Amino acid sequence: MTHDEILKAAGLTNADLTGGTLAVHSPIDGAEIAKVRETDAADMASIMARAQQAFKAWRQVPAPRRGELVRLLGEELRAAKDELGAVVTLEAGKITSEGLGEVQEMIDICDFAVGLSRQIYGLTIASERPGHRMMETWHPLGPCAVITAFNFPVAVWSWNTALALVCGDPVIWKPSEKTPLTAMASMKIMERALKRFGDAPEGLVQLVIGGPAVGEALVNSKDVPIVSATGSTRMGGIVGPKVSARWGRPILELGGNNAMIVAPSADLDMAVRAIVFSAVGTAGQRCTSLRRLIAHNSIKDDLVAKLAKAYASLPVGDPRKSTTLVGPLIDHAARDRMQAALEQAKSEGGTVHGGKTVTSGVPQGGAYVEPAIAEMPKQTETVRTETFAPILYVMGYETLEEAIAIQNDVPQGLSSCIFTLNLREAEAFLSAAGSDCGIANVNIGPSGAEIGGAFGGEKETGGGRESGSDAWKGYMRRQTNTINYSAQLPLAQGVKFDF
Ligand code: NAD
Repeated sequence: MTHDEILKAAGLTNADLTGGTLAVHSPIDGAEIAKVRETDAADMASIMARAQQAFKAWRQVPAPRRGELVRLLGEELRAAKDELGAVVTLEAGKITSEGLGEVQEMIDICDFAVGLSRQIYGLTIASERPGHRMMETWHPLGPCAVITAFNFPVAVWSWNTALALVCGDPVIWKPSEKTPLTAMASMKIMERALKRFGDAPEGLVQLVIGGPAVGEALVNSKDVPIVSATGSTRMGGIVGPKVSARWGRPILELGGNNAMIVAPSADLDMAVRAIVFSAVGTAGQRCTSLRRLIAHNSIKDDLVAKLAKAYASLPVGDPRKSTTLVGPLIDHAARDRMQAALEQAKSEGGTVHGGKTVTSGVPQGGAYVEPAIAEMPKQTETVRTETFAPILYVMGYETLEEAIAIQNDVPQGLSSCIFTLNLREAEAFLSAAGSDCGIANVNIGPSGAEIGGAFGGEKETGGGRESGSDAWKGYMRRQTNTINYSAQLPLAQGVKFDF
C-alpha cells in the first residue's frame, strides 16, 4: 500500500491531510505525508469552554453508562486495529507487530475501564462519634488535557481517556506535533463510538493540533484541572510547575533511564532475549527501553559476547516488512543525538560495538542505525542521560548492594529489573532498600508493561501514575463525608463548646 492508501484506509480524507501548515513526515523514508491544519491559538478558549460545558452534563451520567461509551470505543478499536496500527507504523516508524501491539493496548485499557466503571469504590470508615458514619465518595474532577509524546502516539491517549471518561471527565488531546495523523485517525474511531452511544455531550472528547504553544494554553488554563503530560523531562520541568502554580493537578510521565542487573545465577539465555527486546525494540525509543546493563563481573564478558552475536544478526530496515526487528529512528536529529552520545561515551573511556548509520538495504530518506553496545568503565554523565535511541551501556559490579547503588544513581526512576535465580537477591531488589523505580521486575525486561498495573516512575520521571490498579483516583476528587444519624451533636476529639 502507498502512504496515501494507508492514511485513507484509516479514514483520513484529503481535507484532513492537506491545506495546513504542519508538515508530517514518515520516518520510514522521510517523505512528507501530510500538511495538517494546526489549532488556532484564538480558538483554545472556546475549546476549553466546550469541555467545561460537557463536564456539567457528563459528571451526572452514571459511571456504568459512561463505561458504555468506552465499551463502544473498544469495539470500534477492535474493528479498526489493522488500519490504525498501519498508521502508527507509517507515522512513528514502529515495526508492524509493535504498531498493532499499541492498538491492542488501547483495546485492553478500554476493557479495564469498562469494568472500572462499576467499581469506583470509596471506603466506609469507623467514626469515633456515636450515631455517626464516615465514608469517602469519588467525584469527577473536570476536563483533562492529555499531552502525548511521539513514541506512543495513541496508547498513552487511550490510557488517559478510557479512565477519564469513566471517571466523568471530558478530554482534550494534544498529540505530539510529530504524530498528529495517528491522533486524527483515533478521533475518527472515537467519533464512531460517540455516534453509537447517542447522547454524549458535545465537546466531550476534543483534539487540538500543534506544538508546545498549543499545549501551553491547556497547561495555563484553570478550565483544565488535570494535565496529563507525557514526554521529556525537559518538557515536564516546564509543564509541572505551571500546572501546580495555578492549583491544577499534573500527571507527569517523563523520561526514563532503565536498568537491568544480571546476577551470577541468572539464566543467561533468557536474559539475552530480554535484553535484546528491551534495548532494541521500538529502536530504543520506549520510555521503558533498557539503557543500562549492570552485569556481575564474573559473567559480564560472556554476556557481552552473547549480546554482540545477537546484535549482529538483527534485521534493520523497513518497519512494514515482517522480518524487520529494528525500524527507523523518528528523524535524523534523533540519529545525530545518538551519534553524539556514542562519541561522548568513547571520550569517557567507553568501548562501542555497532551504532553505525545504516544506508544499504533500507528505504532511503529514513534514519536507520545499528543498535549499539557501549562498555563503560563507570556510570558517566552520558550514561546518566536519557538518549532516545538504541544504545545499551554496560557496566560491571561485584556486590548486589553496589549494583543497586549504580541502578539508583541516575536522575530518572521509571523502570528496572533483575535477572537472578536467587530468592534473596530478587527480594532485596524489590525491597524498600532496593530499586527506587516505579516499576521493578524479576526475570523479565523493563519494557512492555501490561495495562493492569499502575504505570509511571519516580524522581525526574515525574511521579505520575496512569493505566491500571488505582491510577483512576488521579482523575477524580475525593470527598470525605461524615453523616450524623443521632439526635446529638458531639464534637470530635471530645471538644466541648456548650452555650
Ligand atoms: P517531548 O517532550 O519533546 O514532547 C512531548 C509532548 O509535549 C509533545 O506533545 C510536545 O508538543 C509537548 N510539549 C513540549 N513542550 C511543551 C510545553 N512547554 N508545554 C506544553 N506542551 C509541551 O517528547 P518526545 O520527544 O515526543 O517523546 C520522547 C520523550 O517522552 C522521552 O523522554 C520519553 O522517555 C518520554 N516518554 C515517557 C513516557 C512515560 O510514560 N514515562 C512515555 C512515552 C514517552
